[in-house]
Amino acid sequence: MPSVLIETYGCTLNQADSDIMESLLKQGGIGVTRVSHGSEPKGNDFVIVNTCTVKKATEQRIRERLRAMAHLGSRLVVTGCMAGANRDIIEATAPDASIVSPGNITGICQILAEIGEKGKVVYDKDGRTDKSYYIPASNSAISRIPVSEGCLSSCDFCETRFARSPLNSFSEELILHAIAMNVKNGAKEIELTSQDMGAYGADRKTNIANLLEKAVQIEGEFRIRVGMMNPEHLHRYFDELVESYGNEKMYKFIHLPVQSGSNKVLREMERRYTIEQFSDYLKELRSKVPGICIETDIIVGYPTETEEDFLETAEMVNGLRPTITNISKFGLRPHTAAAKLRQLPGPVVKDRSIRLARMVKKMQQEDFARYLGRRVRVLFTEANGSSITGRTDSYIPVAVNNLDKGSIGKWVWVDISGNSYACIIGKAIGSKLQPVEIRA
Ligand code: SF4
Repeated sequence: MPSVLIETYGCTLNQADSDIMESLLKQGGIGVTRVSHGSEPKGNDFVIVNTCTVKKATEQRIRERLRAMAHLGSRLVVTGCMAGANRDIIEATAPDASIVSPGNITGICQILAEIGEKGKVVYDKDGRTDKSYYIPASNSAISRIPVSEGCLSSCDFCETRFARSPLNSFSEELILHAIAMNVKNGAKEIELTSQDMGAYGADRKTNIANLLEKAVQIEGEFRIRVGMMNPEHLHRYFDELVESYGNEKMYKFIHLPVQSGSNKVLREMERRYTIEQFSDYLKELRSKVPGICIETDIIVGYPTETEEDFLETAEMVNGLRPTITNISKFGLRPHTAAAKLRQLPGPVVKDRSIRLARMVKKMQQEDFARYLGRRVRVLFTEANGSSITGRTDSYIPVAVNNLDKGSIGKWVWVDISGNSYACIIGKAIGSKLQPVEIRA
């Protein structure tokens, strides 16, 4: 029986692609090992590196891995977003590696057989595969459900849109079936994922609010986490989306990457919404969905960003106080329009990201401190070192160290006694619903 190692980088959508490849290979009688990064690939017949191309640093790390793996005797297969957008980089780094773009991964069994015969193959033309046919039943508390790939936007800094086909939304019926199957199989957290959840269904006369309205009807006790949404699509279904958050099966969580607080920079990034619209969405969400956790992303140092633009961004973040703000330093990505612009000096970009990060850390530290002394109900989903981590109903990350792995997949009451800028910390006090082992 051939053996395959799958090494996965990047977002939940990429992880879901690896779930699909793992399941298809196992169905084909092939032994599969899954790792995140930096594992020892020796001894496998095939090594599949499922790549990410969002950031320069990740691309660098993947190049080093491919170089290291190219001489280990395993057949190397590169999938993921670099396979779709950076064939040139892969061929320069590992000339013998086969290349399989994201839209072709459902043929992985036949592709490995072909590589066995020919040594190397290239599948970089994206088909419009509906991957919801292939969503496996996960054995863990968390189940990743891809709902589409591609998007409808043309953000100037983004290379991912070249990696995957234009928007390809998967069948609503099959997605709902996959959710029901995974809930029946024991999943408690359903992570709906795509490149842009906001665009879901625009090519199928539906949208994410319609999908959620049906998903919460599925029997069972579980929580749905909705992945990242480009704010430009919200106007199409905002009221229905807000309504869906009224159902207890929905984590009160939304991830809306705003990217900048300057309308000038948003226009130059080809982001199709204004700060006023973004601000109105947040205000309405907070008034209609009490306790909602709002996550956003900011790119600091976009080539056309002036000091004034940056200060507008800092002021917006300070004013709107998103619950979680992820900050990225602008990094030039190949093939993008932003790559052709005159880049800001590195020290300027670094200085701005340090200033914004300092402000955000202080803000989140203060906001998470509001949980001190409270008792919250937490769904535990993962083990991290000696801690067990979980989420409140607002998807706030919680860490405890007096529970064991037996509590994963269970709701437990926790007394919050501490916090950082990234999570709240406490002691489990047990659950009437599902008895758990409380460690002394
Ligand atoms: S919405 Fe924009 S940032 Fe997101 S994948 Fe599409 S082009 Fe890239």
